[in-house]
Amino acid sequence: MSDEERKDDDVQPDDLRRTLNDLFGKMQGMSFHGPGMESPAAAEPPAEEARRGTDLVFDFDYLPRDIKAHLDRFVIRQDEAKKALSIAVCDHYNHARYLRALEEENEGKLPEGIELQKQNVIVVGPTGVGKTYLVKHIAELIGVPFVKADATKFSETGYVGGDVDDLVRELVQKAEGDVNLAEFGIIYIDEIDKIATKGEMIGRDVSGRGVQTTLLKLMEETEVPLSNPMDIRGQMKAMMSMQRGGGSAKESINTRHILFIVSGAFSGLEKVVRRRLSEGQIGFGADPTERPMDEELFTQVETQDFLEFGFEAEFIGRLPVRVVCEKLTAQDLENIMKYSEGSLLRQYEREFEAYGIDATFENSAITKIAELAETEKTGARALMTVCERLLRDFKFELPGTSVTELKIDGELLEQRDERLASYRELGKQVDVARARRALDTFCRDFRKQHGVELVFSDEALARLAEQAAEQGRSLLQLCRQRFRDVQFGLKLIQKNTGQERFELGVEAVDEPDKYLSDLVVRSYRGAAGGAEGAPGEVPAP
Ligand code: ADP
Repeated sequence: MSDEERKDDDVQPDDLRRTLNDLFGKMQGMSFHGPGMESPAAAEPPAEEARRGTDLVFDFDYLPRDIKAHLDRFVIRQDEAKKALSIAVCDHYNHARYLRALEEENEGKLPEGIELQKQNVIVVGPTGVGKTYLVKHIAELIGVPFVKADATKFSETGYVGGDVDDLVRELVQKAEGDVNLAEFGIIYIDEIDKIATKGEMIGRDVSGRGVQTTLLKLMEETEVPLSNPMDIRGQMKAMMSMQRGGGSAKESINTRHILFIVSGAFSGLEKVVRRRLSEGQIGFGADPTERPMDEELFTQVETQDFLEFGFEAEFIGRLPVRVVCEKLTAQDLENIMKYSEGSLLRQYEREFEAYGIDATFENSAITKIAELAETEKTGARALMTVCERLLRDFKFELPGTSVTELKIDGELLEQRDERLASYRELGKQVDVARARRALDTFCRDFRKQHGVELVFSDEALARLAEQAAEQGRSLLQLCRQRFRDVQFGLKLIQKNTGQERFELGVEAVDEPDKYLSDLVVRSYRGAAGGAEGAPGEVPAP
């Protein structure tokens, strides 16, 4: 956001409303309402419309094992996290369904004394091990909107451009305006450890405690206004949509059924736990090695450890489900490439395929990539970094050459320059069938665009293919550039002679301009009655 825009947002909400009221009131005879102002009863949306989203959620009938099975397709390892998350998600949405049934029996109100302990989750684990990936796939499977943010962005009074409430509003956007569905969304907040206030982790210049309190309100139950009172554009948009009759009758979003999942690396938490255990003499503390948090140690984590780490008791109390995602070994990274449905390798294969290159990764290459990625210490994120680095030159140079197969093995990754050089040589060899296909595509497009049929002789094709290989470009690219303007001359000839089909030989490929000029001149002669050649056909130059 520019400084200027920010100044705009500093306008007092009341002034703004008044101005908007004046403006729109005059235009449409309608008034403008914002949070904190009385609003007339908005028109009820059609019942079908209002129920659309919630019906989806209340059709929820997954079992924990269904969700885990889905996650297994994409996420390697993290079994405990998968189980815990699957259970938490099922409990959460089953409970929502139960409350909804109670509400329906009680004329839209919850009976007194119904307690709701939400299954909000805290995930502990280093970066790049699948924390976000797990949550994203859960949200996708059950069909609820999902929003991710970093806790470091928040401050007590809101960060530039928005505040914690914006997360909730973002859910509505993700649900394409369906507020009912947004009320069952998932909010995922990473780097939550950075808003701890004591211990070794001190957040930037934000008041961690204040942010914890603000988040706490959302995690319990609160109403969030649909549009940010400070956001002029949002207010106007909401109003326009009301005007068009497409707006929601609701003015706020209730957070009761929104599932919160927070995560962080929590480095240092393991020390807190070990220290406590050693004081209690259970034998853990005697371990002098600086091991990171693993599942075994995590089973020993207690609420008091989080308090010592710097969380408020109320805050941590709202996060009853606690899971750990473990560090990934080189073997895990290898398995991610081989067995995860979302594997990066498939992506690479598709990318090469788009250029007509059939790329395959041999096991030796996969092992090598995994080993290198492990040293980066950024979990599976490093796979992309390593692949980009190792394969960049191949991805740059091979497309457009006649190379149609790329076998990526360990040796290729170790001797990239040599392999690249031999692929370059190979790329220069002309593959006639492939070149003919590319040329046919060019001629087809040309006819579609300009209504003129081009036919290249075999010699012309060979010449073009040779030149394309020499220049390391695709034949299609070469043709598009070389014959960029020929349609003007050809159309002129067509006008003079009625000719629709042009046979092009080597000379037309070598010097298209000169060739065309000759043709044009001749076509005028023909049109003027010079009887060389058959009527309607330009005599061969
Ligand atoms: P974080 O733990 O920091 O939230 P992400 O879940 O965003 O990390 O992981 C980054 C990317 O790495 C994911 O989009 C996914 O492609 C890949 N990835 C990470 N962990 C795993 C895993 N355990 N199994 C499969 N892919 C993974």
